[in-house]
Amino acid sequence: MPAADLVLMGASVEPIVPHAGPPPDALAVSGGRIFAIGTRSDVEPLIGRRSRVLRLNGETLLPGFQDAHIHPVQGELTARRCDLSELAADRFDDAIRAYAAAHPESSWIEGAGWSVTDFPDAAPRREAFDALVPDRPAFLWSRDGHSAWVNTRAIELAGISAGTVDPPDGVIVRDADGAPSGTLREGAMSLVERHIPPPSAEEHIEALTSVQRRLHALGITGWQDASVHDSGACDSQLAAYRHAAAAGTLEARVVASLFWDPRRGLEQIDGFLEQAAAAKVGRLRADTVKIWVDGVIEGLTAAMLDPYLDEGGHATASRGMALVPPDALREAVTALDRVGLQVHMHAIGDAAVRSALDAVEAAREANGASDLRHHIAHIQLIHPDDLPRFGTLKVSANMQPIWACHEPTMDERTIPFIGPERSTWQYPFAGLLRHGARLASGSDWPVTSANPLLEIEVAVTRVSHQDRSAEPFLPAERLTLDQALAAFTIGSAYVSHLDADTGSIEVGKLADLTLLDRSLRDPDGGPIGDARVIATWVEGVEVYAA
Ligand SMILES: [Zn+2]
Repeated sequence: MPAADLVLMGASVEPIVPHAGPPPDALAVSGGRIFAIGTRSDVEPLIGRRSRVLRLNGETLLPGFQDAHIHPVQGELTARRCDLSELAADRFDDAIRAYAAAHPESSWIEGAGWSVTDFPDAAPRREAFDALVPDRPAFLWSRDGHSAWVNTRAIELAGISAGTVDPPDGVIVRDADGAPSGTLREGAMSLVERHIPPPSAEEHIEALTSVQRRLHALGITGWQDASVHDSGACDSQLAAYRHAAAAGTLEARVVASLFWDPRRGLEQIDGFLEQAAAAKVGRLRADTVKIWVDGVIEGLTAAMLDPYLDEGGHATASRGMALVPPDALREAVTALDRVGLQVHMHAIGDAAVRSALDAVEAAREANGASDLRHHIAHIQLIHPDDLPRFGTLKVSANMQPIWACHEPTMDERTIPFIGPERSTWQYPFAGLLRHGARLASGSDWPVTSANPLLEIEVAVTRVSHQDRSAEPFLPAERLTLDQALAAFTIGSAYVSHLDADTGSIEVGKLADLTLLDRSLRDPDGGPIGDARVIATWVEGVEVYAA
């Protein structure tokens, strides 16, 4: 028997999958893999002279978390610019002015982090931005990434005027006379965005290095990057991942989802196959394609089966927008499935979720069953008739549980616009499980916190971690702690095709692990989201220590 490299004793081990025998509290790692799991007497004989031994007192040992939907490089690049995400709205002016003053060399002022609930009608105005940044074009993403606040210089530089027609996949918010008022939604953002100089290759690599540290500190050992844009140029996100994977500095397991350009068609697929082949390096793969099916309810751009309501509760003429119409989506998913690429879809409205399920159904009919593990992220509004289809079509539901609670976006920008009945169809996580769906989980950072423990807390409480005294939101849809932990580990590993080697604590699996400072099952242990990560390992190598 070899001596173990690492031995942990006295932990509260969460294997995630059923474990025979008494509840395990000890674990041994050898050669990067889990060599033994059980009790103290099982691992003590494996301690050798060079073994590192951690004697613990009930701290939780978990498989490393895997985030199935996150924008790490993009989020880190934005966080290094004008970042409003941690600020109350009354602090924005000072923060924007200070950022602009501190960056006289920047030809553009860029940033992110305002919320649609911070401005009347979810639409900040250009004059207000002009007062803060008068001398340069400026562009600030909303926190959800589906709107942008722009100043007059940016609008002029992009040539947008009252006469500019909305693109088919976006909205230019306008004054009564048709003039752009300062907010762009969805595809209309690209009218301005394409003029912003892209970050350099070095900036991408630096962002990846620092976000990997940030995520390891949260116990995350793998993720699915929810949208990697690659123009083939050396300054792209995918190039940064490939560079790190080849250099051996990519410690996390990463599946990069390649961005489906809704303005192009099936001719994109050959490029995806080339990118997927080139990205099979170390812990990196890029054999997934991300399709945005619709927008977001709070921007009234999510695709709905029935119309949105107005402020008075009456039906409007708007059902939102399909960024990729149902026919085109069926064609795209069928073609991607045929060539062996996984599809990762963004779908929020009930029409978008149905269209995504229909597309997978069409692919199954055309191509037969596959093990590609297509998944639909966000799944905010699911028509009850569609719940069983996740199980029958073998489509994973990729949930972001931190949104499933009463908070301003839900209470002010969602429930009033969809009405009482549809409001009860939101984020039906328990219902999905009851109907045979598989759950994966992710944060969508930088949209909301990247901390999986906060996500898990809201999944089991349906109460915002920012207001723990609030009423639970649809409490019948709460998950158990076991279900929520499974979604963030083995469930996410499944959609990334990493479940054979990761996602649970079992003998023979890779030792991707995270250690928390407390038991999650102690009734006096406080909220789950207050637990802290003490250490994170990838293949038995410590990549983070508090
Ligand atoms: Zn996303």
